[in-house]
Amino acid sequence: MGQRTKTPRAELHTHLGAAVDPVIMWTIAHRQGIRLPVKDYWDFEELITMGADEKNKGVDDMDKKYYHLTELIQSSPEAIEEAVHSVIGGGYRKCNLVLQELRFSPMKRNRTGERDLDFIMLAALWGMRRAMVEYPQVTAGLIVAMDRSFTPAQNAITIEKAIKYASDGIVGIDICGPDRDDFSMKDHAPLFARARKAGLGLTIHSGETGNLEELRYVVRHIKPERIGHGIACIQDKKLMADIVKQGIVLELCPTSNLRNSVVKDVEELRTIIRTLIDHKVRFTINTDGPEMYRTSVLKEEEFLLANDIMSEKELAQCTKWAFEATFIKTKDGKKVRK
Ligand SMILES: [Zn+2]
Repeated sequence: MGQRTKTPRAELHTHLGAAVDPVIMWTIAHRQGIRLPVKDYWDFEELITMGADEKNKGVDDMDKKYYHLTELIQSSPEAIEEAVHSVIGGGYRKCNLVLQELRFSPMKRNRTGERDLDFIMLAALWGMRRAMVEYPQVTAGLIVAMDRSFTPAQNAITIEKAIKYASDGIVGIDICGPDRDDFSMKDHAPLFARARKAGLGLTIHSGETGNLEELRYVVRHIKPERIGHGIACIQDKKLMADIVKQGIVLELCPTSNLRNSVVKDVEELRTIIRTLIDHKVRFTINTDGPEMYRTSVLKEEEFLLANDIMSEKELAQCTKWAFEATFIKTKDGKKVRK
Protein backbone atom coordinates (compact mmCIF):
# COMPACT_ATOMS: atom_id res chain seq x y z
CA MET A 1 0.00 0.00 0.00
CA GLY A 2 1.25 3.47 -0.86
CA GLN A 3 1.29 6.25 1.68
CA ARG A 4 -1.77 7.92 0.14
CA THR A 5 -3.80 4.70 0.45
CA LYS A 6 -3.00 4.46 4.16
CA THR A 7 -4.22 7.97 5.02
CA PRO A 8 -7.27 7.76 7.32
CA ARG A 9 -10.21 9.26 5.45
CA ALA A 10 -13.76 10.39 6.17
CA GLU A 11 -16.66 10.46 3.76
CA LEU A 12 -19.69 12.55 4.62
CA HIS A 13 -21.75 12.42 1.42
CA THR A 14 -22.76 9.01 0.08
CA HIS A 15 -26.23 7.82 -0.92
CA LEU A 16 -27.09 4.23 -0.10
CA GLY A 17 -28.85 3.89 -3.47
CA ALA A 18 -25.53 4.52 -5.25
CA ALA A 19 -23.11 2.94 -2.80
CA VAL A 20 -23.68 -0.82 -2.77
CA ASP A 21 -21.47 -3.15 -4.77
CA PRO A 22 -23.47 -4.48 -7.78
CA VAL A 23 -22.54 -8.07 -6.79
CA ILE A 24 -24.31 -7.60 -3.47
CA MET A 25 -27.26 -5.83 -5.12
CA TRP A 26 -27.60 -8.73 -7.59
CA THR A 27 -27.78 -11.28 -4.75
CA ILE A 28 -30.13 -9.17 -2.61
CA ALA A 29 -32.48 -8.71 -5.58
CA HIS A 30 -32.63 -12.42 -6.33
CA ARG A 31 -33.03 -13.47 -2.71
CA GLN A 32 -36.12 -11.29 -2.52
CA GLY A 33 -37.51 -12.59 -5.78
CA ILE A 34 -37.40 -9.22 -7.50
CA ARG A 35 -37.94 -9.55 -11.25
CA LEU A 36 -35.05 -7.66 -12.80
CA PRO A 37 -35.13 -6.08 -16.25
CA VAL A 38 -31.97 -8.04 -17.26
CA LYS A 39 -30.93 -11.67 -16.83
CA ASP A 40 -27.15 -11.38 -17.16
CA TYR A 41 -25.10 -10.08 -14.23
CA TRP A 42 -22.91 -7.91 -16.51
CA ASP A 43 -25.96 -6.21 -17.98
CA PHE A 44 -27.13 -5.52 -14.42
CA GLU A 45 -23.76 -4.03 -13.44
CA GLU A 46 -23.95 -1.86 -16.55
CA LEU A 47 -27.47 -0.82 -15.58
CA ILE A 48 -26.71 0.43 -12.05
CA THR A 49 -23.23 1.92 -12.56
CA MET A 50 -21.78 4.55 -14.87
CA GLY A 51 -18.58 4.27 -16.87
CA ALA A 52 -16.20 7.16 -17.58
CA ASP A 53 -17.79 7.75 -20.99
CA GLU A 54 -21.39 7.79 -19.76
CA LYS A 55 -23.29 10.96 -18.90
CA ASN A 56 -26.75 11.71 -17.59
CA LYS A 57 -28.63 14.64 -19.02
CA GLY A 58 -29.09 15.99 -15.53
CA VAL A 59 -29.92 15.06 -11.93
CA ASP A 60 -33.51 14.15 -12.85
CA ASP A 61 -32.29 11.76 -15.55
CA MET A 62 -29.93 10.09 -13.05
CA ASP A 63 -32.72 9.72 -10.48
CA LYS A 64 -35.06 7.99 -12.94
CA LYS A 65 -32.41 5.77 -14.57
CA TYR A 66 -30.58 4.48 -11.51
CA TYR A 67 -32.17 5.21 -8.17
CA HIS A 68 -35.56 3.84 -9.12
CA LEU A 69 -34.14 0.32 -9.39
CA THR A 70 -31.58 0.43 -6.59
CA GLU A 71 -34.13 1.82 -4.13
CA LEU A 72 -36.61 -0.90 -5.06
CA ILE A 73 -34.00 -3.60 -4.44
CA GLN A 74 -33.14 -2.06 -1.04
CA SER A 75 -36.78 -1.82 0.03
CA SER A 76 -37.03 -4.40 2.80
CA PRO A 77 -35.49 -4.76 6.27
CA GLU A 78 -33.32 -7.70 5.11
CA ALA A 79 -32.11 -5.84 2.02
CA ILE A 80 -31.31 -2.56 3.73
CA GLU A 81 -29.42 -4.30 6.52
CA GLU A 82 -27.13 -6.03 4.01
CA ALA A 83 -26.81 -2.88 1.92
CA VAL A 84 -25.75 -0.62 4.80
CA HIS A 85 -23.44 -3.27 6.23
CA SER A 86 -21.64 -3.67 2.90
CA VAL A 87 -21.04 0.07 2.39
CA ILE A 88 -19.45 0.70 5.80
CA GLY A 89 -17.07 -2.26 5.49
CA GLY A 90 -16.37 -1.56 1.82
CA GLY A 91 -15.33 2.02 2.50
CA TYR A 92 -12.76 0.87 5.02
CA ARG A 93 -11.35 -1.86 2.79
CA LYS A 94 -11.21 0.23 -0.38
CA CYS A 95 -9.84 3.56 0.78
CA ASN A 96 -9.44 3.49 4.53
CA LEU A 97 -12.62 5.35 5.42
CA VAL A 98 -12.45 5.29 9.20
CA LEU A 99 -15.41 7.62 9.44
CA GLN A 100 -18.44 7.34 7.24
CA GLU A 101 -21.82 9.01 7.15
CA LEU A 102 -24.27 7.24 4.88
CA ARG A 103 -27.62 8.73 3.81
CA PHE A 104 -30.86 7.26 2.60
CA SER A 105 -34.53 8.06 2.35
CA PRO A 106 -36.55 5.53 4.39
CA MET A 107 -39.77 6.53 2.62
CA LYS A 108 -38.23 5.54 -0.69
CA ARG A 109 -37.61 2.07 0.73
CA ASN A 110 -40.98 1.05 2.09
CA ARG A 111 -42.62 0.05 -1.22
CA THR A 112 -45.01 3.01 -0.97
CA GLY A 113 -46.23 2.16 2.49
CA GLU A 114 -46.21 -1.63 2.25
CA ARG A 115 -43.18 -1.87 4.56
CA ASP A 116 -43.00 -0.45 8.05
CA LEU A 117 -40.68 2.55 8.31
CA ASP A 118 -39.55 1.66 11.83
CA PHE A 119 -38.31 -1.74 10.70
CA ILE A 120 -36.54 -0.22 7.71
CA MET A 121 -34.74 2.21 10.05
CA LEU A 122 -33.93 -0.44 12.65
CA ALA A 123 -32.56 -2.82 10.01
CA ALA A 124 -30.37 -0.06 8.55
CA LEU A 125 -29.02 0.74 12.00
CA TRP A 126 -28.41 -2.93 12.74
CA GLY A 127 -26.49 -3.33 9.47
CA MET A 128 -24.34 -0.35 10.47
CA ARG A 129 -23.73 -1.69 13.99
CA ARG A 130 -22.73 -5.10 12.63
CA ALA A 131 -20.20 -3.44 10.32
CA MET A 132 -18.75 -1.43 13.21
CA VAL A 133 -18.22 -4.62 15.23
CA GLU A 134 -16.50 -6.28 12.26
CA TYR A 135 -14.43 -3.18 11.53
CA PRO A 136 -13.77 -1.63 14.96
CA GLN A 137 -11.52 1.00 13.33
CA VAL A 138 -14.60 2.55 11.73
CA THR A 139 -17.05 5.05 13.15
CA ALA A 140 -20.28 5.45 11.22
CA GLY A 141 -23.59 7.27 11.35
CA LEU A 142 -26.71 7.42 9.21
CA ILE A 143 -28.29 10.53 7.73
CA VAL A 144 -32.00 10.28 7.11
CA ALA A 145 -33.13 12.05 3.98
CA MET A 146 -36.38 13.70 3.08
CA ASP A 147 -37.12 14.04 -0.62
CA ARG A 148 -38.30 16.87 -2.85
CA SER A 149 -40.89 14.55 -4.40
CA PHE A 150 -42.73 14.20 -1.07
CA THR A 151 -45.09 16.68 0.59
CA PRO A 152 -44.04 18.50 3.79
CA ALA A 153 -46.50 16.24 5.66
CA GLN A 154 -44.82 13.09 4.32
CA ASN A 155 -41.38 14.50 5.04
CA ALA A 156 -42.51 15.36 8.57
CA ILE A 157 -43.05 11.63 9.20
CA THR A 158 -39.45 10.97 8.10
CA ILE A 159 -38.16 13.63 10.51
CA GLU A 160 -40.12 12.11 13.43
CA LYS A 161 -38.52 8.73 12.69
CA ALA A 162 -35.06 10.30 12.52
CA ILE A 163 -35.61 11.91 15.92
CA LYS A 164 -36.97 8.67 17.37
CA TYR A 165 -33.76 6.81 16.48
CA ALA A 166 -31.29 9.64 17.08
CA SER A 167 -29.74 7.89 20.05
CA ASP A 168 -29.31 4.69 18.01
CA GLY A 169 -27.07 6.12 15.30
CA ILE A 170 -29.11 8.53 13.18
CA VAL A 171 -26.84 11.57 13.20
CA GLY A 172 -28.42 14.03 10.79
CA ILE A 173 -31.03 14.85 8.21
CA ASP A 174 -31.01 16.00 4.60
CA ILE A 175 -33.35 16.71 1.74
CA CYS A 176 -32.56 15.11 -1.61
CA GLY A 177 -34.03 14.72 -5.06
CA PRO A 178 -33.99 16.74 -8.26
CA ASP A 179 -35.45 20.29 -8.38
CA ARG A 180 -39.22 20.34 -8.73
CA ASP A 181 -41.52 23.26 -9.50
CA ASP A 182 -43.94 22.34 -6.70
CA PHE A 183 -41.24 22.00 -4.02
CA SER A 184 -40.88 24.72 -1.41
CA MET A 185 -37.79 24.87 0.83
CA LYS A 186 -39.58 27.45 2.96
CA ASP A 187 -42.36 24.97 3.75
CA HIS A 188 -39.70 22.61 5.05
CA ALA A 189 -37.94 25.15 7.28
CA PRO A 190 -39.96 24.12 10.39
CA LEU A 191 -38.90 20.49 9.88
CA PHE A 192 -35.24 21.45 9.84
CA ALA A 193 -35.75 23.54 12.96
CA ARG A 194 -37.44 20.62 14.71
CA ALA A 195 -34.59 18.23 13.81
CA ARG A 196 -31.98 20.74 14.97
CA LYS A 197 -33.74 21.16 18.30
CA ALA A 198 -33.64 17.38 18.72
CA GLY A 199 -29.83 17.46 18.32
CA LEU A 200 -29.57 16.19 14.74
CA GLY A 201 -27.07 17.64 12.28
CA LEU A 202 -28.42 19.44 9.22
CA THR A 203 -27.14 19.06 5.70
CA ILE A 204 -29.15 20.08 2.66
CA HIS A 205 -28.77 19.20 -1.00
CA SER A 206 -28.84 22.63 -2.59
CA GLY A 207 -26.96 24.60 -5.21
CA GLU A 208 -26.02 21.43 -7.05
CA THR A 209 -27.66 22.85 -10.15
CA GLY A 210 -28.12 26.54 -10.75
CA ASN A 211 -30.93 27.20 -8.27
CA LEU A 212 -29.21 30.13 -6.61
CA GLU A 213 -32.35 31.52 -4.98
CA GLU A 214 -32.93 28.30 -3.07
CA LEU A 215 -29.29 28.16 -2.01
CA ARG A 216 -29.48 31.74 -0.71
CA TYR A 217 -32.57 30.85 1.31
CA VAL A 218 -30.89 27.75 2.74
CA VAL A 219 -27.73 29.65 3.77
CA ARG A 220 -29.50 32.70 5.23
CA HIS A 221 -32.62 31.20 6.77
CA ILE A 222 -32.13 27.49 7.48
CA LYS A 223 -28.40 27.82 8.24
CA PRO A 224 -27.39 24.14 8.08
CA GLU A 225 -23.96 23.00 9.27
CA ARG A 226 -23.28 21.53 5.85
CA ILE A 227 -24.58 21.75 2.29
CA GLY A 228 -24.59 18.94 -0.27
CA HIS A 229 -22.78 20.35 -3.33
CA GLY A 230 -23.61 24.06 -2.97
CA ILE A 231 -21.35 24.83 -5.91
CA ALA A 232 -23.76 27.38 -7.39
CA CYS A 233 -22.49 29.78 -4.68
CA ILE A 234 -19.46 30.66 -6.84
CA GLN A 235 -21.75 32.94 -8.85
CA ASP A 236 -22.33 35.16 -5.80
CA LYS A 237 -19.42 36.57 -3.75
CA LYS A 238 -21.70 37.81 -0.97
CA LEU A 239 -23.21 34.32 -0.65
CA MET A 240 -19.74 32.76 -0.40
CA ALA A 241 -18.89 35.27 2.33
CA ASP A 242 -22.07 34.29 4.21
CA ILE A 243 -21.20 30.58 3.90
CA VAL A 244 -17.75 31.30 5.38
CA LYS A 245 -19.15 33.52 8.14
CA GLN A 246 -21.63 30.87 9.23
CA GLY A 247 -19.01 28.13 9.16
CA ILE A 248 -20.97 26.06 6.64
CA VAL A 249 -18.97 23.24 5.04
CA LEU A 250 -19.77 22.16 1.47
CA GLU A 251 -19.81 18.49 0.53
CA LEU A 252 -18.35 18.35 -2.99
CA CYS A 253 -18.76 15.33 -5.26
CA PRO A 254 -16.61 16.04 -8.35
CA THR A 255 -17.14 12.90 -10.47
CA SER A 256 -20.87 12.87 -9.76
CA ASN A 257 -21.17 16.47 -10.94
CA LEU A 258 -19.38 15.63 -14.18
CA ARG A 259 -21.40 12.46 -14.85
CA ASN A 260 -24.69 14.24 -14.19
CA SER A 261 -23.78 17.15 -16.47
CA VAL A 262 -24.04 19.55 -13.53
CA VAL A 263 -20.47 20.62 -14.31
CA LYS A 264 -19.61 20.72 -18.01
CA ASP A 265 -15.99 19.59 -17.94
CA VAL A 266 -12.74 19.43 -15.97
CA GLU A 267 -12.03 23.06 -16.79
CA GLU A 268 -15.27 24.20 -15.20
CA LEU A 269 -14.66 21.96 -12.20
CA ARG A 270 -11.25 23.59 -11.74
CA THR A 271 -12.81 27.05 -11.85
CA ILE A 272 -15.40 26.07 -9.23
CA ILE A 273 -12.90 24.53 -6.82
CA ARG A 274 -10.31 27.30 -7.21
CA THR A 275 -13.00 29.93 -6.65
CA LEU A 276 -14.09 28.20 -3.43
CA ILE A 277 -10.46 28.01 -2.24
CA ASP A 278 -9.81 31.67 -3.16
CA HIS A 279 -12.84 32.74 -1.13
CA LYS A 280 -11.93 30.51 1.83
CA VAL A 281 -15.04 28.36 1.59
CA ARG A 282 -14.45 25.10 3.46
CA PHE A 283 -15.38 21.86 1.68
CA THR A 284 -14.92 18.09 1.76
CA ILE A 285 -14.32 15.58 -1.04
CA ASN A 286 -16.96 12.89 -1.48
CA THR A 287 -18.25 10.33 -3.98
CA ASP A 288 -22.06 10.82 -3.82
CA GLY A 289 -22.12 7.04 -4.37
CA PRO A 290 -18.88 5.12 -4.93
CA GLU A 291 -20.36 2.15 -6.81
CA MET A 292 -22.69 4.02 -9.16
CA TYR A 293 -19.91 6.37 -10.24
CA ARG A 294 -17.19 3.67 -9.96
CA THR A 295 -15.09 5.86 -7.72
CA SER A 296 -13.91 6.30 -4.11
CA VAL A 297 -12.66 9.20 -2.02
CA LEU A 298 -9.13 8.06 -2.84
CA LYS A 299 -9.89 8.03 -6.59
CA GLU A 300 -11.52 11.47 -6.34
CA GLU A 301 -8.36 12.81 -4.70
CA GLU A 302 -6.16 11.23 -7.37
CA PHE A 303 -8.33 12.71 -10.09
CA LEU A 304 -8.10 16.22 -8.58
CA LEU A 305 -4.31 15.89 -8.23
CA ALA A 306 -3.78 14.49 -11.74
CA ASN A 307 -5.74 17.37 -13.27
CA ASP A 308 -3.93 20.04 -11.24
CA ILE A 309 -7.17 21.10 -9.59
CA MET A 310 -5.91 20.71 -6.02
CA SER A 311 -2.58 20.14 -4.28
CA GLU A 312 -1.71 17.40 -1.76
CA LYS A 313 -1.76 20.02 0.97
CA GLU A 314 -5.21 21.28 0.00
CA LEU A 315 -6.57 17.72 -0.10
CA ALA A 316 -5.16 17.02 3.36
CA GLN A 317 -6.96 20.15 4.56
CA CYS A 318 -10.25 18.80 3.12
CA THR A 319 -9.74 15.53 5.00
CA LYS A 320 -9.22 17.48 8.20
CA TRP A 321 -12.38 19.51 7.57
CA ALA A 322 -14.34 16.28 6.97
CA PHE A 323 -13.36 14.96 10.41
CA GLU A 324 -14.25 18.31 11.94
CA ALA A 325 -17.60 18.62 10.16
CA THR A 326 -18.95 15.17 11.02
CA PHE A 327 -22.30 14.89 12.79
CA ILE A 328 -21.13 11.81 14.67
CA LYS A 329 -20.60 12.44 18.36
CA THR A 330 -18.99 10.35 21.07
CA LYS A 331 -21.02 9.28 24.09
CA ASP A 332 -20.05 12.41 26.03
CA GLY A 333 -21.47 14.57 23.24
CA LYS A 334 -18.15 15.61 21.69
CA LYS A 335 -17.48 15.28 17.99
CA VAL A 336 -15.55 12.21 16.91
CA ARG A 337 -12.04 13.10 15.75
CA LYS A 338 -9.34 10.81 14.47
ZN1 LIG B 1 -25.95 13.70 -3.17
